[in-house]
Amino acid sequence: MPTAFEAVCGSGEPIIGILAEYDALPGLSQDTVSFKKPLEEGEAGHGCGHNIFGTASTAAAVALKEVIEKKGLSGTIKLFGCPAEETVVGKVFMARDGVFAGLSCCIQWHPSSENGVSLDSSNALNQFEVEFFGKTAHSAGGPWEGRSALDAVELTNIGLNYLREHLKPTARMHYVILDGGGAPNVVPDYARAWYYVRDIDREHVEKDYQKVLKIIEAASLMTETTYKIKFISGVHEMLSNRTGCEVVYSNLMLVGPPKFSEDEQVFAREIQKNLEVEEKGLKTKIEPFKLPERSWGSGSTDVAEVSWLTPTTALGIAMAPIGCPWHHWAEVACGGMSIGHKCMLTAAKVMAATGLDFLTHPDIIRKMRTEWKEKKKGKEYKSPLPPDLKPPVKPKKK
Ligand SMILES: [Zn+2]
Repeated sequence: MPTAFEAVCGSGEPIIGILAEYDALPGLSQDTVSFKKPLEEGEAGHGCGHNIFGTASTAAAVALKEVIEKKGLSGTIKLFGCPAEETVVGKVFMARDGVFAGLSCCIQWHPSSENGVSLDSSNALNQFEVEFFGKTAHSAGGPWEGRSALDAVELTNIGLNYLREHLKPTARMHYVILDGGGAPNVVPDYARAWYYVRDIDREHVEKDYQKVLKIIEAASLMTETTYKIKFISGVHEMLSNRTGCEVVYSNLMLVGPPKFSEDEQVFAREIQKNLEVEEKGLKTKIEPFKLPERSWGSGSTDVAEVSWLTPTTALGIAMAPIGCPWHHWAEVACGGMSIGHKCMLTAAKVMAATGLDFLTHPDIIRKMRTEWKEKKKGKEYKSPLPPDLKPPVKPKKK
């Protein structure tokens, strides 16, 4: 992937990974104002705060490089530039191809509406596209000559919606129709839809996915169409590491939460007012250290792949006004101004201090790895991706 990178400093053990993300979301271009105002209409924006994610991680890596050199410490820092997180793609390919192999542990964070450390897991996922191929015909003059690819998509979706009742309540399935034909008076000979199948772990996702494949096959039989499945990506559920997260938490207590000014709180409250959300501003305190709660409705993340390859820590620092939706212009606005900058530097300090603890206390990493091995319950990482699947990289425009 041309926008991935790995930057290394130091030498010897331990080998500490730091994850950096910078992916944006389509259509979320936004100026640093408290109301919706795109910088460039229709362009992308950082609606998940990844502009400060990648930079904070880089700052932590640079700080650790300096301390390793000044103090002559043993240890290697590997900063991973991970593209395409929003589509749950980048780290899945990097994990399959061995990029994260040999790490002692890994540090990561994410901008948040809270200051804290979460031990919660995330949903495992398979995502794929289905293309149906039929036969076109005049919809009124000779529809019996046609075989509708759109019918096949619709019947797949009907089957999938009936299937929901017979899956565990933890299953989550969603779809969009990407191509459903051109005009009602032409039987569509081509249709394409994109599916997400999620569940609490890989085993559940695999079972649900096999059932969905049967429905697709059945829809093609019913409509006398053919089909092709394009597997896009799949991820595991996240394995949290309490030992490592406790170290992160103690450093968060040491560094303290971002100190937002009254102007910044006013800005956040204006956004909340405009979004008809309670005007509570930004969080100024650190949340208590919480034990994991098994939530069913959580999203999926490609950080989960790293968490199966090495003990991985978590951290959230406040940047989003309380109660505002994510993947939204509100985060683009906050992430592009002083609120985001304060969040970024706080995260960088906490991660650098955590990295220093890991470099100087080999017993912590040993304990993290023991916990990690216990959590894996004897299972070894197996990539959800087919071995020959290439990352979906668009060729460069000439
Ligand atoms: Zn994100």
